[in-house]
Amino acid sequence: MGVLDVLEVPNILLGQTAEDVVEFDRSLSTFVDDLFATMHVYKGIGLAAPQVGILKRVFVSQYENQRLVCVNPILELYGDELESEEACLSIPNVLATVSRYSYVKVQAYDVNGNRFNQSFDGMMAIVIQHENDHLDGVLITDKSLNTRYNHDQSEGIEKE
Ligand SMILES: [Zn+2]
Repeated sequence: MGVLDVLEVPNILLGQTAEDVVEFDRSLSTFVDDLFATMHVYKGIGLAAPQVGILKRVFVSQYENQRLVCVNPILELYGDELESEEACLSIPNVLATVSRYSYVKVQAYDVNGNRFNQSFDGMMAIVIQHENDHLDGVLITDKSLNTRYNHDQSEGIEKE
């Protein structure tokens, strides 16, 4: 498995719309493995393909015991709107408060091309909305209600 470079703002690729995956082949599964490896090295809880310069609709997430791969996801958002303070691996030292929904229903494909439907709440629902935004070239600073410099990068901030 390879660790990839995570792009940071103002890299223009971070603002682009990603395209659907059409081939569920070996290179896709290798790429997904690389996304997980990269996310772990960078100590993130989510990582989307455009963050490593690949404009495909793929993201991965791992939070506590939940590990998720979403290819070509479609989200249905429901529940309450809440304010979420988030960090992004592509925007170092910044915390941005954005509006999210408390629940998300995901329709997507796994790495083998099998379609699935799954609902999420809590942190996973937030991460999924954050990563899905990356597929549309949307960053937390683009939709922020409040942004602040994070003085202490060391611990306790979940990065996506
Ligand atoms: Zn991010």
